[in-house]
Amino acid sequence: MAVLDILLWPDARLSTLCVPVDQITDDIRKLAADMLDTMYAAPGRGLAGPQIGAMLRLFVMDATWKEGIKSPLVMINPEILSHSDESIEMDEACLSIPGVDAPVTRPTRITIRWTDLTGATYLREMDGAEARIAQHEFDHLNGRVHFDRLDAKARAHLEAAYL
Ligand code: ZN
Repeated sequence: MAVLDILLWPDARLSTLCVPVDQITDDIRKLAADMLDTMYAAPGRGLAGPQIGAMLRLFVMDATWKEGIKSPLVMINPEILSHSDESIEMDEACLSIPGVDAPVTRPTRITIRWTDLTGATYLREMDGAEARIAQHEFDHLNGRVHFDRLDAKARAHLEAAYL
């Protein structure tokens, strides 16, 4: 159990492609537990490996804990297999860009596959906040933050507010 330091944008690690987790070891299990502790302490609803300097394809999320229902997910090597044509704009917060929410348009629904800490594979259709958080965290694994989803004008405005 440990709360880790969260890297702040524009740390270069937040713009770096992460590599797959090739084996679920005790180190990975400890890392995931520490990431959940860090996420809940922040407090946030999602945290990706690169945000604490672990350049691996894994993230943790819990879409409902702030409403009183804990539903932690550890998503190792996630893949978004499909998404809805329908999309929606929502303000997103990021623990690595504190204080600046960005209006990001994303698909409302996704189908995502991942491996958990036991090595089991899951496939789930997500919508609502869950789909939003998973897409945001998935972006982190590809070196993208919410700013990277904005047009140039909106981005410049929000970057100026942050820096
Ligand atoms: Zn983020």
